[in-house]
Amino acid sequence: MEKFDTSDEFFDWFLPTLEGYVPNYKELVINAPQAAMQGVDNHRVIASKLPTLTSDEVEYVFEKVREAIAIPNDVFLVYEKELHTYASGYNARKKRLEIYLPTYVFYHLRYDPIIRAAIQHEMGHILNRDYKVITEKGHSGCANRCMDIRINHHIDRDELRDLFNAVYYFKVESFTMLVPEEVLPSYGIPLRKHGTYSYQVIHKYYHLNDKDKVEPKPKPPKPPKVFNLPKVGDIVKINKTSDYGRVIDVKDAKAVVEKMTVEEVSEHFKEIEDTGSYSSI
Ligand SMILES: [Zn+2]
Repeated sequence: MEKFDTSDEFFDWFLPTLEGYVPNYKELVINAPQAAMQGVDNHRVIASKLPTLTSDEVEYVFEKVREAIAIPNDVFLVYEKELHTYASGYNARKKRLEIYLPTYVFYHLRYDPIIRAAIQHEMGHILNRDYKVITEKGHSGCANRCMDIRINHHIDRDELRDLFNAVYYFKVESFTMLVPEEVLPSYGIPLRKHGTYSYQVIHKYYHLNDKDKVEPKPKPPKPPKVFNLPKVGDIVKINKTSDYGRVIDVKDAKAVVEKMTVEEVSEHFKEIEDTGSYSSI
């Protein structure tokens, strides 16, 4: 298998190779966010077009990955042809820790730094025992992002950028990496001089921004109060009382009301059954 010494040499070989299997890969990368909103994972679509590795190739991959970076013997490598990225977890049935390799690994083996970044990342999840974390419902995606930020802090940025390009972006577009200096300031967390924060702290801050992301709904304007000034002669109910009065004058937009007797009021209400004219102040 041919090996490349530099990132540029690797991508000069890898991207045309990928294009051979997925001629529209650039389009799929660019449209990935829109497709995701419709429940389609374009990254998965791209990966699924690559030929499945043979069992000989899988054996070869396992051997070469362990040569590229030291992996503890009790962490098992597993080939997952359905996956489009590297992953890891605890296999409860087999009672063992596993790192899952996508078909891309066969191509990435030509440039060791990508394998190193990928395995270092998965070992970060394993060593932090992220597989034991039971995330709250609806938080698996964001919690994983926050775990990634914490892990990626320790990975060489050039190697990490190559990994993202070799799995997700294929140099089609620029992107923000899940590393402290590129995302934490936007969460409102100052960067630490040494080390970084636990994923729990990052996750907490991540959600503190939620209310800023949701635009407050503008209150609908209150309809202006319609106030019909009574005319002289109108029968009105006197404010905050159960008494009625007759408007005898209107001065400075205020009605001057003369209180009516009970008889006058009852006489009036007999009349409005006919006319329907009634106003209140
Ligand atoms: Zn969350």
